[in-house]
Amino acid sequence: MSTTKTPLLGLTLDELKAVVAEEGLPAFAARQLAGWIYGKGVGDISSMSNISIAGRKRLAEHHDVGLMTPLLRQLSADGTAKYLFPTHGGGRVETVFIPDGERGTVCVSSQVGCRMGCAFCATGQQGFQGHLTTADILNQVYSLPERERLTNIVFMGQGEPLDNLDAVLKATQILTADYGWAWSPKRITVSTVGLRKGLKRFLDESPCHLAISMHNPFGTERAAMMPAERSFALTEMLQILRRYDWTGQRRLSFEYICFGGQTDTDRHAREMVRLLGGLECRVNLIRWHQIKADATERCLPGMMTPADMTPSDEKRMADFRDYLNAHGVRCTIRASRGQDIDAACGLLRTKYQS
Ligand code: SAH
Ligand code: SF4
Repeated sequence: MSTTKTPLLGLTLDELKAVVAEEGLPAFAARQLAGWIYGKGVGDISSMSNISIAGRKRLAEHHDVGLMTPLLRQLSADGTAKYLFPTHGGGRVETVFIPDGERGTVCVSSQVGCRMGCAFCATGQQGFQGHLTTADILNQVYSLPERERLTNIVFMGQGEPLDNLDAVLKATQILTADYGWAWSPKRITVSTVGLRKGLKRFLDESPCHLAISMHNPFGTERAAMMPAERSFALTEMLQILRRYDWTGQRRLSFEYICFGGQTDTDRHAREMVRLLGGLECRVNLIRWHQIKADATERCLPGMMTPADMTPSDEKRMADFRDYLNAHGVRCTIRASRGQDIDAACGLLRTKYQS
């Protein structure tokens, strides 16, 4: 799939201007190119009819659009579809499309694997194979067969977006720019465990919604599931988050996996209320999608392993949700989708490497 040509997909308007200048095309051709690639999703330079034939030929000598169709598709009984996309670097990455009435959500990956090593996550246990480029991220949107049905994009696939922030910010910039797909940033959510440097930059530079993977309000307990807590504590993260305005367009949410007896107790519910009280946000409770107990190769010493964890039962999750709502913290239970094809949250683990 990979070619020797440089993909145009993933280039900002300024970068497209540099390309057209280099290839001897007029400056206005950059916006035309962006219109074809990002506005219309056209994958072939030769069909960009408002660019001169000679100009298209020159462009195509060194460039292609860089769209790459999925290699595999698995369909869940609930309509969720999981795709395996090639990357420009020769890797493979998984993307999930979730239909829900009028809504169509794509769950995109930002890396192949992940280096955060969360004990409960299949991607984390897969280890890290590499960063995705902006082109690889956008390809999961533009080459998605259900592209026309999309209403939302969530960075909740493989990888930690703040660990590949340049590529993620560029992708969201292109998706929301007037020269790009002109999507509202309100339709895009970036999910993260929280990395100090990346978080501050994201907060300052991106208008997109933010979801924090919290999963436990107690630092020492969180650290036993999520190594990222050791370098950036939740308490410090919350101090930073409280400095930003969440009452306007940009939304803050917290993802919270309910583990039976470990994160779903009254003690945890009370601490959640204490930590989040007065902060404009919502909490999404997630059912843990159990991963294989033998997937422990990445768990650090002193950390929990998947064998130590069980999902909460429905009643306990409902009680936890009701407690938070009754104490002023908005909370909902997220429906689990695509579990039969390992497409649900945290089950993405690319098995097809060659
Ligand atoms: N790396 C980012 C985004 C990808 S993970 C992050 O961690 O936020 C997307 C969400 O799935 C996160 O909230 C993550 O904690 C959750 N998740 C991971 N493994 C899971 C599992 N096995 N069951 C349910 N949710 C899981
Ligand atoms: Fe990485 Fe997110 Fe999985 Fe943690 S939960 S290992 S950050 S993908």
